Parts: sequence; structure tokens; C-alpha cells
Amino acid sequence: MAEFTMELNDEQKEVRDWLHGFAADVIRPAAAEWDEREETPWPVIQEAAKVGIYSLDFYAQQYFDPTGLGIPMAMEELFWGDAGIALSIVGTGLAAVGVLANGTEEQIGTWIPQMYGDANDVKVAAFCSSEPDAGSDVASMRTRAVYDEAKDEWVINGTKTWATNGGIANVHVVVAVVDPELGSKGHASFIVPPGTEGLSQGQKFKKHGIRASHTAEVILDNVRVPGSCLLGGKEKLDERLARAREKAKQGGERVKNAAMATFEASRPAVGAMAVGTARAAYEVALDYAKTREQFGRPIIDNQGVAFQIADMRTSIDAARLLVWRASWMAVNGKPFTAAEGSMSKLFASETAKNVTAQAIQILGGNGYTREYPVERMHRDAAIYTIFEGTSEIQRLVIARTLSGTPIR
Ligand SMILES: Cc1cc2nc3c(=O)[nH]c(=O)nc-3n(C[C@H](O)[C@H](O)[C@H](O)COP(=O)(O)OP(=O)(O)OC[C@H]3O[C@@H](n4cnc5c(N)ncnc54)[C@H](O)[C@@H]3O)c2cc1C
Repeated sequence: MAEFTMELNDEQKEVRDWLHGFAADVIRPAAAEWDEREETPWPVIQEAAKVGIYSLDFYAQQYFDPTGLGIPMAMEELFWGDAGIALSIVGTGLAAVGVLANGTEEQIGTWIPQMYGDANDVKVAAFCSSEPDAGSDVASMRTRAVYDEAKDEWVINGTKTWATNGGIANVHVVVAVVDPELGSKGHASFIVPPGTEGLSQGQKFKKHGIRASHTAEVILDNVRVPGSCLLGGKEKLDERLARAREKAKQGGERVKNAAMATFEASRPAVGAMAVGTARAAYEVALDYAKTREQFGRPIIDNQGVAFQIADMRTSIDAARLLVWRASWMAVNGKPFTAAEGSMSKLFASETAKNVTAQAIQILGGNGYTREYPVERMHRDAAIYTIFEGTSEIQRLVIARTLSGTPIR
């Protein structure tokens, strides 16, 4: 286990500064344009691939950083640049984590590289869990996967929604029901390989924020995938289902479901994205407050403005510490006995929403226009309290974990 320290090591500082440079020089200058265009910023993703930021190697290195800080540090810097573009760069990671959390070594080795492609032929991946009638309530998922034993194939039918990179992805990871009697415990994750017949993009959503990130429905119409595309393999699934049936008979001890395994691993990372957006807005606000003069003095000379700045920075630092703690715990195999992952996501995402709103207030009329970036940052920040489990669901998870009772 890595020794506890509050200081980044030299290598981490180097990576952080390199990422910050890319965020400042490449991402931030392109942010307003791609927000207006509401399209995937392929040239920026390509640029990120060229320098090695959009690559399996880079994410693997950060993912396996023994301190746990590699991923949160990377997320904070990239999202500091711009949330929409950064999500286009890291969105593939959610699908990759889905495979890492549930897949065999062979599946990891086969599919994750195809999710990224290479610098000359960049690809993206999508993780498809949410459905029109199954958002927070994952257990009411209807997409069904049925095993065709004669052909050793799975046949998947259903409609997914809100999928980041849905329909434009090279590889889709799809969560589906394999045993409807078991609720969320009867789910499994599947790889849908590139070019598979029957998978198509439905509606592409026009959004409030993170508009450079593609979000769409994914339609699965008699999609057939080989047996080897079941993440974790059939034997492991059969064992897991048998255990879940047994536990259901005995009164339902908790068994982790496929989508939940992905979300647990990714929540602190989402918290880090929120910290990045919040920090970006805070920096603009601080700078503005020091230079904008009213009544013959900089507006920061007013306690009412200065105290807002103090509160903004305090909550950002507190959010980062919660994110770092959860990430450190996760990488060192410490169980989230107080739902520390959810805590970090809850606090950081609420912080991003509040801080970006305060930044608009400090910039006054300018804050409300697209001449300044805080308006976009505020729209972007609204996503953090919604995706990967809303703030209400994080509170439910925390309260249930603390109390041990099935609070509704
Ligand atoms: C831009 C974007 C990108 C996304 N990317 C992906 C993706 O890549 N893959 C994917 O699978 N999904 C993705 N999602 C889906 C996202 O995870 C869901 O939107 C989210 O889980 C909430 O589900 P819902 O929208 O159906 O809201 P609902 O579940 O309908 O919730 C509506 C409201 O009711 C509240 N609520 C619901 N149940 C309770 C309860 N028990 N107690 C208290 N309050 C409750 C919620 O907190 C919320 O405020 C994305 C969503 C967006 C907007």
C-alpha cells in the first residue's frame, strides 16, 4: 500500500502540468466553438490521441497509479479545460471501466484497444445502461438478452437512452436482463462489436450543457453477439445467477449487479470532473473580482464578494479531498463502508453547480453572456448532479450504507 501523503510525487506533478498545458492550449480555446456546434470534436480527440492523452496506455497508467490519484488528477485538469470536450475525450473510459470491472483478461485485451483505435484512426466507445423507463431505477431495465445455445450466441433486444457516444461508438457495452425474476441481480453486460447488425442510433439529444459530447438513444433490434461477448463469461454468470437465486430464497442478501460495479468504480472520477469545472469557474471569478472596479475600487474589496470567493475555494478544496480519499480507498482495496465514493460524487457535483452559479453572480451581466465562459461552465455543471446517479440517489446510497436500512 502506498504511504499516505498530501503531496503529489514528481511524476504526478509532471503529468498534471502536461495535461494542464493541453487543457489550456488545445481544449479551452476550442470550447465555445464546439459548444455552439453541438458536435463531437473529432479534431480535438485526434490531437489528444496524437500526444498520447486519448489512449489506452495513458488511462491504464493513471488507472493503476498506486496512490489512486492518477485518474482524478487527469479528470480535473481535462475538465478544467472544458467539460463537453473533455467528456468526448474520456467518455470511452466509462465503457472501458465496464469491461475492466466485469470482463475476463482476454476480453479486456481484445476489446479495450478497439474502443480507442489509434492516433491515425480514432474510435470511441459507449456504455449503455439507462433506458427510457429505467434511469435511477436500474432494476426496471427491459432490454433483454436471450442465450441461443445451438449457435452459442446472445440475442439482444431493447432501447437504451442517454448513451454518451451511443451510435457513433466502435464498441458498445450494453447492460441487459438475462433473468427477469432477479431484478437488477439478473443483469449482465455484453460487448456489441463494431458493425454488428441490428444496433442503430435513435434520437440524438440537444442538451443544456456538455454540448460537445454526443448523447443518444441506442436501438437494439435482434442484435446477435457471440457467446464470447458476455463479459465475464457464461460460467461466471451462471454461478452468479445461482447465488442470487439462492440468496433471494433466503431473503435477499445483496449481490452486486453489472451496472453498479461500473458506477461504483467511476463515481469518484465524476467527482473529479466536477472539481475541474468548479475550479475553472472560480479562477475566472477571482480574476474578474480583482480587476472589475465599481464605486472606485475592485469589487473584491467588498466583503460580500470576497466571502463568496472564500467559500467557493473552500468547497472546491473540500470536494477534491473527498474525491482523492475515495480514489485512494478504491485503489487500495478499502471497502466503501460509508459510501465514500458516493459522498465524493455528491459533494463535488453540488459544489460545481453552486460555484459556477456564484461565478456568474460575481461577473454580473458579463457572467450571463457567452462572451465569458462561466455561463457555459454553469450549464455544463448541471450534468454532474444527474448522470452516474443523481444527487438524490447518492444520498440514498449513503444513507442506506450508514443505516443498513432499505430507506426509500
Ligand atoms: C448527458 C447525459 C449523459 C449520460 N450518459 C450516460 C451513459 O453514457 N450511459 C448510461 O447508461 N446512462 C447515461 N446517462 C443517464 C443518466 O445516468 C441518467 O439520466 C440518470 O441516472 C438519471 O436517470 P433519469 O434521467 O431517468 O432520471 P429519473 O430516474 O427519472 O429521476 C428523475 C428525478 O427523480 C429523482 N428520483 C428518482 N428516484 C428517486 C428516489 N428513489 N428518491 C429520491 N429521488 C428520486 C431523481 O433524483 C431525479 O431528480 C446520461 C445522462 C445524461 C443527461
